[in-house]
Amino acid sequence: MRATNIPGPSGHPPPPFLIVTPYYTRCLQLLLKDDTAKFRSEMQGQMVEYLARGDRHLLIVLPTGGGKTMAMALPSFIEPDGITLVVVPFVALMEDLKKRLTHWNIPWGMFGQKDADTKRVIFVSIEVAARPEFTQYSRNLGTSGLLRRIILDEAHHFLMSSHFRPAFIYLVNLIAAGCSIGFLTGSMPPEYEDELWSALGIPRHLTITLRAPSTARPEISYRFTKVDADDLEEKVVEYVNSVTLREEERGIVFCNTKAKARQMAEALGVKAYTSELKLHEKKEIMRDWLDGTHCWLVGTPAIGSGLDHAHVRYVVHVEPSYTLIDYTQETGRAGRDGKPSVAQTFHSGPPLGSADDATRFGGYEEMAAMVKAVDSCPRFHMTRFLDGKGANCPATPGAEFCGNCQKRLVRHLFFVC
Ligand SMILES: [Zn+2]
Repeated sequence: MRATNIPGPSGHPPPPFLIVTPYYTRCLQLLLKDDTAKFRSEMQGQMVEYLARGDRHLLIVLPTGGGKTMAMALPSFIEPDGITLVVVPFVALMEDLKKRLTHWNIPWGMFGQKDADTKRVIFVSIEVAARPEFTQYSRNLGTSGLLRRIILDEAHHFLMSSHFRPAFIYLVNLIAAGCSIGFLTGSMPPEYEDELWSALGIPRHLTITLRAPSTARPEISYRFTKVDADDLEEKVVEYVNSVTLREEERGIVFCNTKAKARQMAEALGVKAYTSELKLHEKKEIMRDWLDGTHCWLVGTPAIGSGLDHAHVRYVVHVEPSYTLIDYTQETGRAGRDGKPSVAQTFHSGPPLGSADDATRFGGYEEMAAMVKAVDSCPRFHMTRFLDGKGANCPATPGAEFCGNCQKRLVRHLFFVC
């Protein structure tokens, strides 16, 4: 290991640089049954090794597609006698993780299931994880020596969502289980790291942060169009109808309220995906979208997390997201196949909301500032907030230019010619 004294984005020294032990690469190859398999990045290997060692609490900030699932899969594969507890905020996300573990033959179970202790990974929802019986269970597992680690997936929700934040304070109890805790997220601004550790009562010297150098998604072109509030619906319908999608490609329309989602869905001839629907109704809408019966999915941000379709080409927002984290997560559904994609927002002004505790952490003010700054680069606003260092489209290798950077480029070319 070697260490440097260069301060990290939050003013703290970065973690010691860990050269991943070849043993973990070999374990990865055995798990994937591929003798040529490698970690997707040095950071993914470091994540696995730190989690397997279990001597620090870990914050892992990796963009979508960075391979966070390996955090629960590979250490569990390596230790047949250990148990990893995984706290997940969304059902859709949990189902996706279960499928992947089944594919890799890693036995998993649900908290409360009779034979759960015989599994290597035990899932629990955030609501259940906040209950005293789960605290007691994790302590008992810790005392028995079976518990290896606790992983909180999509961890930014625990700090930044008004829905999950009340449960967050109870997660402090999990520290008593005496194992390392891994926080996985694609969106955690450097300035909030201290808040996370101090809210949990974890001293900084017991933590390691692994942060990807940039969370930018170069394949997405960010576009904002201001319209009169009365024309909003018409403009969105016009835009959606003007888009041509290939057979495998899909689009999503995000609305901030259920009422608006129902209104937009009706105008586009589909059913709205909203939280109050019954499970079979949600499944039916999702099935129709996945099989191409309807190529556009219309709903509230509730459809955002856990939605994993590779070929989403367009994400349309009807009015801006409330926070910059929400916006990043929702637009992040586009371009998972790495192909050029568009995030188009139609708005009549800044987001309607308030800078309460949850939205403050999520970047409400930053979202409002981005919408107000009509000539600036959205990518710059996003990377400045999420990575601690802003980079506009020309400064991002391989970036699809946003509407404003495109305009600037055209003006520049016109001037030069
Ligand atoms: Zn730009």
